[in-house]
Formats: sequence, structure tokens, C-alpha cells
Amino acid sequence: NLVHEAVRLGFSSVMFDASTLPYKENLRATREVAEYCHARDVWVEAELGEVGGKDGAHAPGVRTDPAQARDFVAATGVDALAVAVGSSHAMTTRDAVLDFPLIAALRDAVGVPLVLHGSSGVADAELARAVATGMTKVNVSTHLNKQFTAAARTYLEAHPSAVDPRKYLGPARDAVAEAVTRLLGVLHGVHAL
Ligand SMILES: [Zn+2]
Repeated sequence: NLVHEAVRLGFSSVMFDASTLPYKENLRATREVAEYCHARDVWVEAELGEVGGKDGAHAPGVRTDPAQARDFVAATGVDALAVAVGSSHAMTTRDAVLDFPLIAALRDAVGVPLVLHGSSGVADAELARAVATGMTKVNVSTHLNKQFTAAARTYLEAHPSAVDPRKYLGPARDAVAEAVTRLLGVLHGVHAL
């Protein structure tokens, strides 16, 4: 599968998401991946949502249970756990409401770093508070895709006869770099809570 291919190609960490499976199958699949990866010095991030949740960890309203998360990490041996605390994947608005008491409870229950997925849908202040409450890793993709695409679109609209990709990919790359720099400031508390 893809994990095996990634490891063969030399990646040193993988994200494995079997959270749409029933709990026992998620646990079994994740444990297999963790065993395979650990034998090859590869770090594994897994996901756990609500038992039987149709969209895994990423339907709005889904929550990860702290006791189950503790058991899941112990049984699978994963190195980090993405948990469901109110955000969901691929949001294009930044208005997700995070469950901070749950983040704190998960932090106390689970011995490995916690990961926030769906972070593109979370506003700056909530992201900073999530880190202060116990999140270690914050995964952002959609928000950066938006900046990249908007910058490329702006350039192309202003230059309808442009043909050289370097002309619009350059500004798009710069827009992502600027957004990443800004977010790093937010996550390190530079811009305060
Ligand atoms: Zn995820």
C-alpha cells in the first residue's frame, strides 16, 4: 500500500488514517502500520474519532474519547495521535469551534503528541489556544492552498496573456511562505492569545 511505498522511497514519517473504520479495525490496521514503520525507523501519526463515525475523525460534532484514545495509543504504539475536537478537514472558512476542555482531557490521558487536523478552519486565536491547551502538531493545508491559488489567480487575471508558469508560480509560492511565517508566529504566541 501507500505507506509501504512511502517508506521504501525514504520518508521518515507517515500519517495513517483508518478512522472511518470501526474501532477494532482501525486499531488493527494502525497497529500493523506502526509495526511495519517502527521496524524501519519511521514515525507514525494516526487518527481516532468517534466509534463508528461515518466520516472518521472529521465530521463536525465528532469527538475523540480520552479513555479510548489512551487505550488506542497503548495498543497500537503510534508516535502521535490526531484527535477530533471540533475541527474538520478542508474547511474554507475559519470558524470552527474547538472543545478546549476535551483537548486538556486528551492531553492528560494520552502520552504521545496530539495533532490537530482541519486546522485551516480554525481562527488564529483558537489555534494559539489549542497549542496552549495541549496540541503539539498543527496540520494546515487548505488555508495554504487558498493563498497559493489566490495569488496565482490574481496574477493571471491581471496578465491575461501570460504564458510563463514562473511568472505566476513565483508570487504563489511567496504567498504561501508569507502565510506560513504568519502562522508560525501565531503558534509560537508571538501575536499573543
Ligand atoms: Zn485527518
